[in-house]
Amino acid sequence: NGAVSIKNVSKIYPNGTIGLNQVDLDIKAGEFVVIVGLSGAGKSTLLRAINRLHDVTSGTIVIDGQDITQAKGRQLRNIRRNIAMIFQNFNLVKRATVGRNVLNGRVGYYATWQSILGLFSAADKQQAIVALEHVNMLEKYYIRADELSGGQQQRVAIARAMVQSPHVVLADEPIAALDPKNTQMVMDDLKRLNEELGLTVIVNLHSVPLALQYASRIVGLRAGQLVYDKPIDEVNQND
Ligand code: ADP
Ligand code: ADP
Repeated sequence: NGAVSIKNVSKIYPNGTIGLNQVDLDIKAGEFVVIVGLSGAGKSTLLRAINRLHDVTSGTIVIDGQDITQAKGRQLRNIRRNIAMIFQNFNLVKRATVGRNVLNGRVGYYATWQSILGLFSAADKQQAIVALEHVNMLEKYYIRADELSGGQQQRVAIARAMVQSPHVVLADEPIAALDPKNTQMVMDDLKRLNEELGLTVIVNLHSVPLALQYASRIVGLRAGQLVYDKPIDEVNQND
């Protein structure tokens, strides 16, 4: 579980802009893939297609054996449940506590009226505690999200992703708004999700040095096309 198979995917926006042009990418469970490319290369377009935040124009994206581009209703919800997303701007509920923000990761998990109203079980709370320990933020459980630094907020977002118990974690420029120290902490947290929990991690980054430091595989996009794809041990300094 956690394999993502992208076949011949193109995305043309309604205004005619080509976001992706016939992208093929087969990601195995447990890989740490970093997608690099200049601004406008199609990195966000690709990540947003993988969990179907938007539809593609053609092609298929198979996750855990199911094509998310064709899924509907309950089947789509079940596939999405296994995909967690981390955003550049953290996307926390600013006025809610850290603990509540992490528990929000459980809402999609069963989507009952109890969870929507914020009534979480003791088991859920225990999961939130474990996840906050993972990112070293447990001491902030009762602090409001908007009182945290950007780096701390992103680590809470990672804890929220964790309690969703996903197979795949997508992160769209997760460190774009962070200083170098927080950048390392956030990338280390993502790496541990990959290594300790075995999750497939796919991260969009501008920075090639960071990609070299963390990735097990580096993929390059340019003008919507996949122009580079190598496992880390085959990456050449002159590439
Ligand atoms: P990023 O640097 O992460 O690629 P952008 O600044 O390009 O972000 O895009 C920010 C938002 O604007 C996104 O929601 C994106 O979908 C939208 N957007 C980007 N380019 C265009 C465009 N040419 N026309 C309409 N919307 C766009
Ligand atoms: P990246 O994430 O690599 O910066 P994007 O995926 O955001 O690249 O953008 C790829 C291309 O699609 C760019 O030309 C961008 O302007 C365009 N684009 C992104 N979002 C939209 C949108 N909502 N409408 C139209 N064009 C868009």
